[in-house]
Amino acid sequence: MNLAHIGIAVKSLDASAAVFEKIFDTKASEKEFVEEQKVNVRKIHLDNCDIELLEGTDPESPISKFIEKKGEGIHHVSFGVNDIQGSLDRIKNYGIKLINETPGTGADDMLVAFLHPKSTGGVLMEFTEHK
Ligand code: ZN
Repeated sequence: MNLAHIGIAVKSLDASAAVFEKIFDTKASEKEFVEEQKVNVRKIHLDNCDIELLEGTDPESPISKFIEKKGEGIHHVSFGVNDIQGSLDRIKNYGIKLINETPGTGADDMLVAFLHPKSTGGVLMEFTEHK
């Protein structure tokens, strides 16, 4: 398991990407729309993990709701796994609450599933696996 990315909710994707490009002295990825989450995503690729900038495209997007409640900030931390369904089943057996019991599709056509922050110290955690 590895740290895959840190998801940051932002109001303006392009404005934030421009700032992060300066901080990390690199170019952000092209904008990608993720239908399932109603978000636009741009990533900053670092050596050992990515920064995932997230902008809601709809008031019903989880990112839009997050910003409305808490403002901009860290939205989730994502961990790469080799067998996402196996990992979800394994931790579910311990009584750990999941938001997604089966994975959906996230940015870069990756399989993604969220754990419930009630079980993880208030931190929204995500598992992700390359298809
Ligand atoms: Zn993510």
